[in-house]
Amino acid sequence: MEIIRIEKVTKVFHMDGEDVRALRDVSFTLDAGDITVILGPSGSGKSTLLTLMGGLSSPSEGRVLCKGKSLYDMPGEELALWRNKLFGFVFQSHHLMPELTALENVILAGQIARREFGICQERAAALLYHVGLKDRMNHKPGELSGGEQQRVAVCRALMNEPEIILADEPTGNLDVKTAEGIHDVLWELCQKEGRTLIVVTHHEPLAKRADHILTLHAGQVTKKKS
Ligand code: ADP
Ligand code: MG
Repeated sequence: MEIIRIEKVTKVFHMDGEDVRALRDVSFTLDAGDITVILGPSGSGKSTLLTLMGGLSSPSEGRVLCKGKSLYDMPGEELALWRNKLFGFVFQSHHLMPELTALENVILAGQIARREFGICQERAAALLYHVGLKDRMNHKPGELSGGEQQRVAVCRALMNEPEIILADEPTGNLDVKTAEGIHDVLWELCQKEGRTLIVVTHHEPLAKRADHILTLHAGQVTKKKS
């Protein structure tokens, strides 16, 4: 079943009197439960595409549909509700709260969504357990390695059971082996829970395991395996 439809999307940024065309007439669809890898050189429009899909930035032309609804034709408040309910984000830097423990950081995401504390606690602990951080739950981010911090960020993104996970170079700062470990848990959790995963990465071997590969060059999809 189709979950995301990108329809003739163009995104132009205006910078110092110049137009930067970050995306040019991009169209594709993704099905629920699929894993998609987005590849492409720096500056090719990968992050821009992800923010458009996640309801964070509107296209200059074209439409972004999620579950049949055109995201940027909704009133802002409705879009914010959709975004919080539908999407989980993982970024290159984890943005964890330094003064909170790993467990508290993950629980916080649930509390922001006004979920009951006991339920938050249970799910947060289960997720951290699953990514191999059983013995690190009560450590603060500063006491964790880069890879462990990113695992916490993965748990936080999954905390509220979003249908779609958008990950923008989640392992960009990590060595290859650590990166593979993160991708493994992200992959496995999304598959286990039936979530749609869209991940931007430079790690090409990963792409082989994906259902779809989108390759961007200068704002255009140049290659698509599906
Ligand atoms: P990637 O993630 O593939 O490295 P981006 O989507 O970040 O590429 O950027 C695509 C192009 O759009 C680049 O030329 C970049 O400089 C430009 N760009 C991205 N965001 C902005 C912005 N907020 N303002 C101006 N230009 C931007
Ligand atoms: Mg980027």
